[in-house]
Amino acid sequence: MSEADVTVPRGTELPGHGSTFGAMLEEFNAAARLLDLEPGIWKVLTHPKRQIVVSCPVEMDNGDVEVFTGYRVQYNISLGPAKGGIRYHPAVTLDEVTALAAWMTWKCAVAQVPFGGGKGGVACDPTRLSRRELELLTRRYIAEIVDAIGPDKDVPAPDVNTNDQVMAWVMDTYSMHVGATTTAVVTGKPLQLGGSAGRREATGRGVSLVTREALKYAGIDIAGARVAIQGFGNVGSVSASLLRQMGARIVAVTDWKGGVGDDRGLDIDAMIEYARQYKTIDGFPAGEPLTNAALFALDVDVLLPAAIENQITARNARDVRARVIIEGANGPTTPDAHRLLHERGVFVVPDILANAGGVTASYFEWVQNRHGYFWSEDEVNARLEIKMLAAFDTVLKTALRYRVDLRTAAYVVAIDRVATVTRMRGMYA
Ligand code: GLU
Repeated sequence: MSEADVTVPRGTELPGHGSTFGAMLEEFNAAARLLDLEPGIWKVLTHPKRQIVVSCPVEMDNGDVEVFTGYRVQYNISLGPAKGGIRYHPAVTLDEVTALAAWMTWKCAVAQVPFGGGKGGVACDPTRLSRRELELLTRRYIAEIVDAIGPDKDVPAPDVNTNDQVMAWVMDTYSMHVGATTTAVVTGKPLQLGGSAGRREATGRGVSLVTREALKYAGIDIAGARVAIQGFGNVGSVSASLLRQMGARIVAVTDWKGGVGDDRGLDIDAMIEYARQYKTIDGFPAGEPLTNAALFALDVDVLLPAAIENQITARNARDVRARVIIEGANGPTTPDAHRLLHERGVFVVPDILANAGGVTASYFEWVQNRHGYFWSEDEVNARLEIKMLAAFDTVLKTALRYRVDLRTAAYVVAIDRVATVTRMRGMYA
């Protein structure tokens, strides 16, 4: 029987083409078939536990009232409280947030941190909001979902276009509602407010560690390895710095506005400074201007998509010449594109493994908050490295054992772990 002959349990059919949740289901179903997952658990793991949609009225600086739609999805809580970031972006939808919450579930399971998966988002354009509007929006959004979150229920964190200041407002709003300062309700906070040393850099640090391991496996020397990066936010910029420290050459970077390339290697420190000032690396004076399409087609050792989902698609996957792809973003490669790349022998390290460093350090932050005792940055980094290398090793061994790509292997590891506890816990009522 071919894979295509195996029908998925009813209720787990793929949503329409172009759905991000549909892409997640396609990836899930491939691994569930390999595991011969029983239909009951299959259905449970392909449905979000809870989806919340709220309207957030905000009085704008000009006196007008705008209403923003916010979402929080708690996909699964079998292994612990829901965990996952909050993103502010015009393209945020319930479909996207649900897919991202599912990916958090598998990511936490792969990283072996005791959390389920959640995600939140508000459809808005943060580049057009003042600081005051951003704060009001954040506080209203959190007030609307305040009963659903908490240190033992659901713990938000930063994601696209949110940062430690936004997390400070999340923490304060929740604390005002419950009448006690509750640092463990959210991670990615400022250091002075219960944040963890190393958390801001953790996703990029994890990305650089798995890149090092992937290159080792692929037989490519990291010293002098040529790297192209899409996205120069927290993940892209930190990964660039750390990979450069490991000896790699960052030859191209693009972001939401433009890009720059230099075959001799870009000056990452200067670019970080430039991006701080101009909110983009577009127009960076050293190097040649570069488009996203050109970046994806570069003949490099490593392509690191570190922006948003659906960037490598069936349309541009044939142009990709990189030997290794490290998914710093969530869902940057569509299932169709992934198939094409895998057939051509491109080694793809999937998001739920490659970018798990962020949530792993979030787990450390939550532990430190609950203990009221803080670790040094060296201690955080050392523990992070141990967990990332263990996750990489387990997924690689699973891939070799089942003779599948790393994405399917990561899902096999995650589904097996979540399915096991779901069976143990049983169905309530
Ligand atoms: N937003 C990050 C992610 O997608 C971090 C989530 C967290 O730390 O909870 O993994």
